[in-house]
Amino acid sequence: MTLANNYEHLSAGAKSRIGKRTQIFINGEFRDPHSEKYFSIADPSNGLELGQIAQADQFDVDLAVAAARKAFEDSAWSRMRPYQREALMLRLADLIAENAQELSELETLSSGRLIRNTRAFDADLSVYTLRYMAGWSTKISGKTLDLSVPYLPDQKFFGFTKRSPLGVVAAITPWNVPLCQAVWKLAPVLATGCTVVLKPAEQTPFTTLRLAELCNEAGIPPGVVNVITGLGHEVGAALVEHPGVDKISFTGSTETGKRIAAIAAPLMKKYTLELGGKSPVVIAEDADLNIAIPGAAWAIFGNHGQNCCAGSRLYVHERHYAEVTAGVAEIARTIKIGPGLDLSSQMGPLVHHAHRDKVMSMIHQGLESGAELLCGGETINSPGAYIQPTILTDLTNNSITSQKEIFGPVLTAFSFKDDREVIQRANATSFGLGASIWTKNVDRITSFFGGVKAGTIWINNHNVLDLSLPFGGMKDSGAGHELGEEGLLAHTSLKAGVMRVFDQAE
Ligand code: NAP
Repeated sequence: MTLANNYEHLSAGAKSRIGKRTQIFINGEFRDPHSEKYFSIADPSNGLELGQIAQADQFDVDLAVAAARKAFEDSAWSRMRPYQREALMLRLADLIAENAQELSELETLSSGRLIRNTRAFDADLSVYTLRYMAGWSTKISGKTLDLSVPYLPDQKFFGFTKRSPLGVVAAITPWNVPLCQAVWKLAPVLATGCTVVLKPAEQTPFTTLRLAELCNEAGIPPGVVNVITGLGHEVGAALVEHPGVDKISFTGSTETGKRIAAIAAPLMKKYTLELGGKSPVVIAEDADLNIAIPGAAWAIFGNHGQNCCAGSRLYVHERHYAEVTAGVAEIARTIKIGPGLDLSSQMGPLVHHAHRDKVMSMIHQGLESGAELLCGGETINSPGAYIQPTILTDLTNNSITSQKEIFGPVLTAFSFKDDREVIQRANATSFGLGASIWTKNVDRITSFFGGVKAGTIWINNHNVLDLSLPFGGMKDSGAGHELGEEGLLAHTSLKAGVMRVFDQAE
């Protein structure tokens, strides 16, 4: 079977990128990696090789950071006015929109995500992100303040603050929503006037590389955006340690995030860390089960469970426990599993076979520690990295399966008796990324919102994100925020000015 046979129905753009060697993108040009090494990536729905990915090394990292530094300090970019950056960002957004089909196909090919989601989330949301952040380019402001200075009562002062771009950003992204993650990192960089070296995950570099081409087409000056591909522990680590990098914007696992923080902190680098989660979904006694049951099912099975905010711990009031778990299991059993490119699929493969095996070992570990299998628990007989949507019950709150992020379609379900108890149990994890409550009671919402330690609390929905809302985690789920004004300002440095004022009387 040839690649062409399998992917005949794809757009010409997507087809033209399959089965090729990729390059890295530095200073506005594509080039071969210094190492002359490549690694292969495969389509997780069938195991076929998709291409050979350039394996960059320290030499390439040095070049990319130097290009980003030069563009930041002495190029057309640093002289560009905010409205001009805004115009470039809007042009880039239009180009993503024009190429949305190709981008969503490329995303689905390497990540296994459903094509309808890669279209609506990765491609379309990337367009909205750029348009939203483009508007901020012209609105980054400081303050003016009348100063009191009580120890100099006979003098008057005027205070002001100014925000400036932070500098060179190293942006490192995971594989679960690759284009969207890249654009969430790129947009505030462009809006504030920073420059960037992007490092996509090994398995899913296609769309970030295509994004680099579109940056060129949009007219973004050379060196502002650079993309290097390669292995995280080599090029990712080299970027984090690089003295030419001012800020690290990282999304990925808590383990890698902590390693990055340990390197960055003594170097006094700024960092934003968007890390893992084990988010609770709480269905209260008064919940509308007609929306709560499908809500809980898709909170975990959406994107095949490979979602940082996946609702992987379900807490149901004891009155509804049997009905809710049966309802979620019924949905799980009827989910249509198939290739992401098939429009009728409701759940695609996991990102690669090694990840599928890791998820399976977590399921087995749960079963060995006494869990009951309500549904799923098996791989699918196929060359793809498929796994059945799985529900485990009868685990304790502190079992490894209830505590560790599985990052696959695996739900652990518990019952609870009262609100105070469920808030304690929702918090009894090292993570704090998201949490949802399903209820009609305002007092319950208020105490859940106040009591649960998580960066985002959803009420009668789960995982609805918006560009205007800051997104970030508490505890082991991260440091700092992306998106919204907070995500933008995290790419600026703040300077204060104090001016003595000599009024006429003086
Ligand atoms: P990961 O292993 O931490 O990798 C993430 C990125 O870091 C990849 O580009 C990886 O490169 C790179 N990397 C690996 N080791 C590195 C090092 N020592 N120094 C610098 N970079 C390094 O995470 P993943 O398994 O790809 O992604 C899944 C995780 O991401 C989950 O925990 C999920 O919850 C989290 N996530 C969080 C959010 C959020 O917003 N909070 C969003 C999405 C995903 P390679 O690919 O080459 O290894």
